[in-house]
Amino acid sequence: MSEDYKRTQKVLSTCHFCYGEDDSLPKAPIIAMGTRAYLSCTSNEELLPGHCLIVPIQHHLTMLEGDDDVWDEVRVSAYHSTVM
Ligand SMILES: [Zn+2]
Repeated sequence: MSEDYKRTQKVLSTCHFCYGEDDSLPKAPIIAMGTRAYLSCTSNEELLPGHCLIVPIQHHLTMLEGDDDVWDEVRVSAYHSTVM
């Protein structure tokens, strides 16, 4: 097993936006679940009232790693969360 793989597994198992290895729900609160991303509220201080997060279900280091499907859903969620 490579060091890289082990490091990645450790990050995933402690990431509170990701599902657990046993498919347990993410520790972050889920407001709405999509197919590629979900809407969560921040567990830190809100930057603005109603501040929420659009989280890709697959762990990404940055949003730039997300593929087009993820981006499409993020755009739709962002739109809906501004009109909510
Ligand atoms: Zn994660």
